[in-house]
Amino acid sequence: MIKEIQAKVLLAHIKQPDSWFGLKYNMNLYNGCCHRCVYCDSRSECYQIENFDRDVLVKVNAIELLRKELASKRIKGPIGLGSMNDPFMPLPPGVSLTGQALAVIADFGFPVHIITKSALVLEELETLQRISKVYASISFTITTADDALAAKIEPGSSRPSARFAAMKALAAHGIQTGVTMMPILPFIEDNEENITAIVEQAAANGASYIIPWMGMTLRDRQRTYYYEQLDALFPGVREKYERAYGGRYSCDVPNAARLYTLFNALCEKHRIATRLPLYQPLTVRQLGLWR
Ligand code: SF4
Repeated sequence: MIKEIQAKVLLAHIKQPDSWFGLKYNMNLYNGCCHRCVYCDSRSECYQIENFDRDVLVKVNAIELLRKELASKRIKGPIGLGSMNDPFMPLPPGVSLTGQALAVIADFGFPVHIITKSALVLEELETLQRISKVYASISFTITTADDALAAKIEPGSSRPSARFAAMKALAAHGIQTGVTMMPILPFIEDNEENITAIVEQAAANGASYIIPWMGMTLRDRQRTYYYEQLDALFPGVREKYERAYGGRYSCDVPNAARLYTLFNALCEKHRIATRLPLYQPLTVRQLGLWR
């Protein structure tokens, strides 16, 4: 169900830019996500989002707030989209705010990093090309290259084959794109065939980077939902999790070291970076030119 809400503030300021994405601000135009990934961390109690899979709350005053907040920012640091929900959910016509928000960001000249599992990102190709003159990077989260497996664990999102096709189109238009290869689900996705297929398809479709994590998080409501889904989709696997991880939050796959070795070798072979090429402010870029 779509519900409208009013937000007080839109951009969350990140005091210490994270080393993975280098973000200065974080932006969520919605609460809740209709992609319904079985492992989603946003179900955790700490985020206090009720009916996470059922309702999408749309911050209807977001565009007005964004204009006001960007006008007052002294530092044009990267804005992140996609941390708590997918910015390109398949919402009914007229409901999505993402295209309008990106147009405002382009007007103000801010850099952007987007995480998505949706091929709908291509609808904003022209705006992303405008932002890309400053900096835009689109990371497709891909946890499996197998469309049939993705249909079980990420039922509402575009299939991996569609994400790879969208990646190819973005790269062909000069927009930096790559993969956030996380989570890798223990006992389901942590095999050499899957890691090899993701890297090889990323390489074939224009990815310039893949950011890996061979593991997943599990806590409170997220764990409860995930275990229910395991029982329904992969009988017997929940018991393996309970034995391996107990109540642990951070759950690396049992064969992580071997998979990282394989992953790094494949990325080297295909000349793919294993970190996101971060936004460089203009002064730094100019200095680079003068060296
Ligand atoms: S797309 Fe991201 S936010 Fe949405 S359900 Fe999946 S993991 Fe959660």
